[in-house]
Amino acid sequence: MSKNLVLLGPPGAGKGTQAARLSEDLGLFHLSTGDQLREEREADTELGRRAGAFIELGELVPDDIVVAMLLGRLDAERVDGFLLDGFPRTVAQAEALEAGLAARGKELDQAVLLEVPDEEVVKRLANRGRQDDAPDVVRERMRVYHEATEPLVGFYADRGLLARVDGTGNPDAIYERVRASV
Ligand code: ADP
Repeated sequence: MSKNLVLLGPPGAGKGTQAARLSEDLGLFHLSTGDQLREEREADTELGRRAGAFIELGELVPDDIVVAMLLGRLDAERVDGFLLDGFPRTVAQAEALEAGLAARGKELDQAVLLEVPDEEVVKRLANRGRQDDAPDVVRERMRVYHEATEPLVGFYADRGLLARVDGTGNPDAIYERVRASV
């Protein structure tokens, strides 16, 4: 049976890499809000222009914009089983997802948390070199992660949906743990 999953973790935790493999293996539709926002910017859409200002500062794009974008995409693709990467990032987004899925007769099966210490993440991002990986922007993204996104750990634990995975080590070893957790 197809699953509806979310992948959580700090910036640079390797969510994109792991999500690509897991969605391929399980036949799930992989949706990354970060990738989707970068595509909107690339295409210079109204949404992309609004989002760009937040992304460059390491701030979150406002919940209403991201929620509408994500649910719109899920509807457009009529997906059967999905893996979300980079969403939700706030409790408000998680609540909107829960309500949006319920309205569509769906629900989440699991939230997988990739755990990576701050020092490790900062090192990885320094090597990645994306525009929003500049040191001061990374510091802000980490601050925002701890403040706005980490409360989702409790949110999903309370619902019995949380699986914690050690996100350190080589990507293959991490993937084995991710795969075993779902
Ligand atoms: P990373 O996981 O390394 O932070 P992402 O590609 O997931 O990279 O996100 C890059 C940026 O896009 C974030 O810093 C934020 O500005 C914006 N963004 C992505 N997803 C969301 C979301 N769900 N809510 C708000 N902003 C988002």
